[in-house]
Formats: sequence, structure tokens, C-alpha cells
Amino acid sequence: VNLTAMCSRARGKVHAIIDARAAAAKEEITLAFQRLRRARNLPPIALSSWKYAKLPARFQCPECGGRLIFEVNEWSTATGTPTPGGISVMCEAEEKELWSAMQQERDPEWQHRSWQSDWMPVVRQVERFCASRVRIYE
Ligand SMILES: [Zn+2]
Repeated sequence: VNLTAMCSRARGKVHAIIDARAAAAKEEITLAFQRLRRARNLPPIALSSWKYAKLPARFQCPECGGRLIFEVNEWSTATGTPTPGGISVMCEAEEKELWSAMQQERDPEWQHRSWQSDWMPVVRQVERFCASRVRIYE
């Protein structure tokens, strides 16, 4: 009987059980948080000094299908509601490329075309999302 191998298999199983339970607990916490937020009529995303965040996965880059991020440039100081037209929507992958090019003092290897016709529908969706779900606190 190889005790070391048995222990290693058992440890693997224990880790798998812990990982599965942790994932289930996270899911439960997320759902409970969403229920409470709706019950108390709270916006789920509150931005303070850092005024950008990643959008949920259902929002996709119209050019590469990747995740999007948004930045709020204008908002109502009374309510914290982002102003339509005061929200920038950016492709996460493109922002990473631009950032790393800047860090390395080189030209970006690629960039999106950023055509209005491609981006406008997504920007409108993000504006609606921000109006109902995002508040800025200072
Ligand atoms: Zn993209």
C-alpha cells in the first residue's frame, strides 16, 4: 500500500470538495446580495474616486466580442446618476494594449476602428444600464 499516494489522492478530493462548497457559497452570497439590493432599492454599483468599472458579461465589444469597461465623466451631483453622453465605453482588451504600448513607449500593435455606427447601440445600452444601476459618490 502506497500511503503517500493515498494521502495525495485524499488531499485532492478534500480540495475539490472545499472548492465546490466555496463556489456554491459565493453564488449564494451574490444572490442574497442582489435580493437585498432590490428589496432596499439600492444601486448595485457605487463608484467613488475611481469612476470606472467592468460591465457585466452580457455587454460585449462590438468589434472583438470581448468584455467592456465604462467610465463616468459627468454625473448629477444631487443624485449621483451618470449623465447620458457623459459615459465612455471602452474595450478591455484594447485598453490593455494601449496601456502596455504606452508603458513600453511603443505604438499599439492593434486598435479597434471605433466607428460610431458599431459603438452607438452599445453605448446607448450602457447609458441605460448606468442610469438604473450606477451611482457616483464623492
Ligand atoms: Zn474589443
